[in-house]
Amino acid sequence: MKELDIAKFGGTSVKDFEAMSSSARVVLSNPNTRLVVVSACAGVTNLLVELASGALFGDGIEAKISELRRIHMQIIDKILPSERERCVAYLEEHLKEISDQAREASMGRSDALTDRIVCHGELLSSYLIVEVFRVLGAKARVFDVRQVMRTDSNYGQANPLVEVLAAKARELLCPLLEGGELVVTQGFIGSNSEGCTTTLGRGGSDYTASLLGEACEAKTISIWTDVPGVYTTDPRLVPHAMPIDELSYSEAAEMATFGAKILHPSTLVPAVRRGIPVYVGSSREPEKGGTWVRPTTQSRPPFRAVALRRNQTLIVLASPKMVGASGFLARVFGIFAKYRQSVDLVSTSEVSIAVTVDAGSQTSGLSHLSEDMLNELREFCHVKVESSLSLVAIIGNEMSRTPGTTTRAFDAIGDFAVRMICYGASNHNLCFLVSEDMAVPALTRIHEALLEKA
Ligand code: ADP
Ligand code: ASP
Ligand code: MG
Repeated sequence: MKELDIAKFGGTSVKDFEAMSSSARVVLSNPNTRLVVVSACAGVTNLLVELASGALFGDGIEAKISELRRIHMQIIDKILPSERERCVAYLEEHLKEISDQAREASMGRSDALTDRIVCHGELLSSYLIVEVFRVLGAKARVFDVRQVMRTDSNYGQANPLVEVLAAKARELLCPLLEGGELVVTQGFIGSNSEGCTTTLGRGGSDYTASLLGEACEAKTISIWTDVPGVYTTDPRLVPHAMPIDELSYSEAAEMATFGAKILHPSTLVPAVRRGIPVYVGSSREPEKGGTWVRPTTQSRPPFRAVALRRNQTLIVLASPKMVGASGFLARVFGIFAKYRQSVDLVSTSEVSIAVTVDAGSQTSGLSHLSEDMLNELREFCHVKVESSLSLVAIIGNEMSRTPGTTTRAFDAIGDFAVRMICYGASNHNLCFLVSEDMAVPALTRIHEALLEKA
C-alpha cells in the first residue's frame, strides 16, 4: 500500500462503547488507515495480571471474572442486536478459559501462564471493536497478530524476531490490507516458534504498532491515546505542561525511556529503522491536534521536556579493594549480565559504584532483585540497596555544549535532596534521582524553571 497508516488505540481509547466509537470514527476519517491495533479495555490487563499472580482462589477469582464480564458486557449491550448472541458466547468462552487458567496459576504461577492469561484482554477488545465498526456501517475483520508477531520465549518481556515478523506479515497480513475491509489486530501479544503466547511488556501495544508499521512498510504510525499529543511533561502531574508540536526521534526516545508513559520505550526503534513518522493524538478529541515525531526537527531547544520514572532502586557497591585495581567493574557487570539484570544509570567513585535498576514494568509482579545475585555481589563487595526512589530526567538537545545548562538545572533542583546525578553520557539528558515523595514537587519545580520561563 502506498500511503498506509497504522492506527493504535490504547486502553482508555477502547474502554467502553463510546470510546470505541470515537476511535472508530478517527479510523474512518483517514482513508489511509487500513490497520488498527488495539490494547485491552482500560483496567483489563491489570485484572488479568492479578488473576495470573496465583494469589487468588475461589471467590477471589470469581469477583475478578465478574468485573471482566461487566467491562465487556457494557460494550456488547450497545452493538447490533443481531451480533449479540455470538459476542456473548465469545466472551463467555474466554471467561471460562481465564477462570481455568487462574485456578491453574493458584497452584503455581509462571511467566508463560501469565502471558496465556493476559492475552485475553487484547483478544476480546479487538473482537468487540469490529462490532463497533459494524454499528457505524463500516466493514472490519479481526486478525490474530500471533500469526505474524514472532518473538523469542522471554515471557512477559519478549523480544520480537523482526525478520520472521516481516516475512510472515508480507505473506499473511499485508495482502489483507489491500482488501475492502479494515483489519483490526491486537497490540502487546505475540507467539514464539512453538506457538506459545508471549507478551512484549506492559504498555507494549505502541511497540506492536511500530513493529507492524515497519513490517508492512507503513508511511505513518498513529498512536491514539487519552491526551492530545506529547507534552513538556505528564499533564496529569503538572497542569502547566504544554503540548509539543514536533519532536525528534531522539527526544521522544529519551522521554519514553525516562518514564513518559505516553510511548512505550521501544516504540521508536522500528520507526527509526525505516524513518517512519509517528503521530500522537487524542482519540476523544482528535481536533485538538497532536505531536509529530520525526527523524529531525527545525527547533532543537536545550530544554524540551521533563520526565518522571518511578519505582527506581539504587544499588551501591563498595569495596576498598577497588583502589587502583582493575577488573572490578567487569566483574560486577558480569554478575548483572548473568542474572539478566538490566541497569540504567551508573556512577562510580574510587571505591564504589552506584547503579539504578527499574523495579516496575514487570507483569510477574514479583520482586525484581534476585537474592542470589545480591549474594554473589556480597562475596567481594559491600552491597547497599535503597528503594522508593524516582528519576527526574530533563530532556533536551546539545546540553553539554550549551553554556549555563547545568547552572539552570541545578538552581531549579536546589531545594531538594538529590541522591544521584547522571550527566554526560548523552547529550540529550540530565537526570536526578530523588526520593519518591519528592518526585512530583521536584518535577514541577524543574518544569516551572526550565520550560515555563523559557
Ligand atoms: P494508552 O493506554 O493510550 O497507551 P497511556 O496511559 O499508556 O495511554 O499513556 C498516556 C498517558 O501518558 C497520559 O494519560 C499521561 O498521563 C501520560 N504521560 C506521561 N508523560 C507524558 C507526556 N510527556 N505527555 C503526554 N502524556 C504523558
Ligand atoms: N494491555 C497492555 C497493558 O496494559 C498493553 C498496552 O496497553 O499497551 O500493558
Ligand atoms: Mg500506553
